Order: sequence, then structure tokens, then C-alpha cells
Amino acid sequence: MKKLIFTCIAISLLNIVSFGQITKSKKAASDKKDKAVVVDSSAWRAKHYIVNRDSAYMDPRIGIEKLRGGNRRFVEGISIRPRQDASTIKKLETGQEPFATIVSCSDSRVPNEMVFDQGLGDLFIIRTAGQVSSAASYGSMEFAVLKLKTKLIVVLGHTECGAVAAAVERPANVPGHIVTLINEIKPAVAKTSHLAGDPVDNAVRQNVIDQVNILRDLEPILHQKYITGEILIVGAVYDIRTGKVEFLQETLQNLPKPKLIK
Ligand SMILES: [Zn+2]
Repeated sequence: MKKLIFTCIAISLLNIVSFGQITKSKKAASDKKDKAVVVDSSAWRAKHYIVNRDSAYMDPRIGIEKLRGGNRRFVEGISIRPRQDASTIKKLETGQEPFATIVSCSDSRVPNEMVFDQGLGDLFIIRTAGQVSSAASYGSMEFAVLKLKTKLIVVLGHTECGAVAAAVERPANVPGHIVTLINEIKPAVAKTSHLAGDPVDNAVRQNVIDQVNILRDLEPILHQKYITGEILIVGAVYDIRTGKVEFLQETLQNLPKPKLIK
């Protein structure tokens, strides 16, 4: 008798468990269907500031809008983490067409793909502390422009930058090669020392503007490509308090007439 009761209880439990599984799988299927419909809609694209990737690759002005849109998603907590799946890995095995080159600080709080909500193959990134460039960095940018046909270069500084703070504080007896970073940032500190406000954040902005101008003047490749309108070089600052990227107005004015090349 006891055995029979136990068997009945066991069967009932099994039924409950399997019913639960069916309900769960039905719900998952229904959720998946809903998600597919929503993700395909133009309303969803507008709400998530989606900008066409091919257009961003062809036109650096649209590239800026794509970065702005991705950063808005990041700030609003609605990142979509695009192109980070197995099919994208497969698709990219034969080559890459990043729509932007980012010259950024090494700071761990500024992970470029995350703050711009982009995926594999989207951003060609050069990172050093204080985004200070040297010959190897310049060569990397030229490679991106000439070989990968990337038409947008963004110099991305950030608030509370340790390298810029070091240039403001000018500590004595700096060890190793760190002095190289400080020396490169010192001119921006000198230009902003008279300004009110946070001396580091002021120098961060000026450092980005100076670096943009250096790249625009850099012979033999970037300067020619820039003045003929084939590429854009602009600057931006990431705010580590808010997650927001501000494209600097000073670097968006008087841009050369765009020349779109396929
Ligand atoms: Zn930094």
C-alpha cells in the first residue's frame, strides 16, 4: 500500500514538473516571438537610436551620430550589445570594416565598445594613458584610414584622467617612461591654468583639442585626407560620473566639405 501511495505521489510530482517545463517553454517561445517583432520595428529602432552601420562606415558624419546613439543607450541603461554573437565572429573572419577609429585613454573606466554600445568589427581602437600618441599610434591610425577605409577618427579624453592629473600636479622624480606622458600633456595644462573650475577637467578638454589639431596636421596621410574632406577628426570627452560622451563643439566647427569616397 505504502509503495502504491509513494508511486502515485512520484507520478504527480513528475506531472507537475513536466507541466511547469511546458509552461516555461511556451512562455519562452512567446517571449522570443514578442522580442523578434519588437526588435524589427521602426519604433524600436527609433527608441534605441539605431543608426545604419553601412551609412556610418561611408559617411563620418553619420558615424558620429551612430556613436552618439550608442552612448545614449549606454547612459539610459538600454544597451543592445550589437554584433557580439557567434555569427558575427564568423562573418568577420575574412576582414574588418570598422566605422570609427577611437584614440582613447587606457583608463579601465572607459571601455570604448561598452560606452558607445558597439560590437565586434565596429571600432578600431588605440589606447594609451592620456591618449598620448607616438609613432606607433600614428601608424595605427594611418593603417585604419588607408587599409580599412575608416573615415572617422575620434580623440576620446575623459574626466578625472590620471595622466592629465599628473601633468597638472607635476610630481618630482617621475619613474621610468611616465614622464613622456606628462611632457606631452603639459602644454594643455599651461593653456588652461588661468581658467576657473576644475584644473584637471579643463586640461582634459584642452588636451583633446590639442591632440585633434596635431592629428589634423599630421603629414603625410592624415593631413591630406582631412583637408580634402575624405576623413573627419573630432574630439570628445567621456564623463566618468555620468557615462556620457560629449563631442567637443570646438572640434566640430569649420570642418572641411565632406568628400564621400566608396
Ligand atoms: Zn585617462
